[in-house]
Amino acid sequence: MNRSVKHIPSILIVDDQPMNIQLLSRLLSEDYEILAATCGSKALEIAQSQTPPDLVLLDINMPDVDGYEVCKQLKSEDRTRDIPVIFITARHDAQDEERGFLLGGSDYIVKPFQPMVVSARIRNQINLKVRTDLLREIARTDGLTGIPNRRSYDEHLDTVWKRCARDMQEVSMLMIDIDHFKAFNDRYGHGAGDVCLRRVAQALSSVLHRSLEMLCRYGGEEFAAVLPSVGRDKALPLAEAMLKAVYDLGIPHDSSPAAPVVTVSIGCASLLATPEGSPLDLARRADEALYAAKKEGRNRVAPA
Ligand code: GH3
Ligand code: MG
Ligand code: MG
Repeated sequence: MNRSVKHIPSILIVDDQPMNIQLLSRLLSEDYEILAATCGSKALEIAQSQTPPDLVLLDINMPDVDGYEVCKQLKSEDRTRDIPVIFITARHDAQDEERGFLLGGSDYIVKPFQPMVVSARIRNQINLKVRTDLLREIARTDGLTGIPNRRSYDEHLDTVWKRCARDMQEVSMLMIDIDHFKAFNDRYGHGAGDVCLRRVAQALSSVLHRSLEMLCRYGGEEFAAVLPSVGRDKALPLAEAMLKAVYDLGIPHDSSPAAPVVTVSIGCASLLATPEGSPLDLARRADEALYAAKKEGRNRVAPA
């Protein structure tokens, strides 16, 4: 999460005439990072890359893939759907303009254009995009701990499950619950409880390194981790590392019968992903294992 890092918005200018790209680029390069493409297929490639632009300025008349088609393809894919598209074109018919909007375009500018008006219209769309991105990020994040929330986790789990089912791979899940946390709140106060939750979230996160692994706040004092393409042999050591990371925080917990410091119990389950199967099955098993870890004395990992 890089919300605090200042990010210069980037604009992809698509036009088959390099002259037009130069003109727009000169107008915008002071405020934005400029990317350019002289054909539709190159534009799609850039938009679908790891570093997509925040806005696309799109010419319509181009020899290979025209602007309408580029817009249609951008709007048909989850990854690129939210990038605003502004058509900038010599076509001035109302029908052409309507078609652009119907395909999901955010604005339509007719050439020759007034530079100041173009700048202003772009600024509006960029501001909207930045705000929407921020709201989306907030909707996916747990406010107290800053890690992904349950909703974001459930979406991610579905994606991971489908991908692993396609590749016939296992998925592992860890259910993690702080031990005697009610007693911690009673002894040290709710504020200290909140601080503790944050530190535990950080300690648990520090164990995960691979890109599709995700830890979320599952609810209250419970966390969950999904480990794609990981079987029991690798999941159990990760769970043990999490157990140790929390223990090593050394947060005093006088009223815990389990240990002198704050600890967690972890249920660990692994399942071969299949198209017929469901990640709910995996969650149920991990939950049962967590229950066993609690029953066996807490501050431990239990496999399903
Ligand atoms: P166990 O070892 O069996 O898990 O016992 P426990 O006390 O941790 O479990 P229980 O479910 O009885 O209590 C959970 C406690 O977690 C109660 C609730 O007040 C606390 N809790 C949940 N969410 C928050 C939170 O956001 N902040 C704080 N400070 N406490 C929270
Ligand atoms: Mg608990
Ligand atoms: Mg609980």
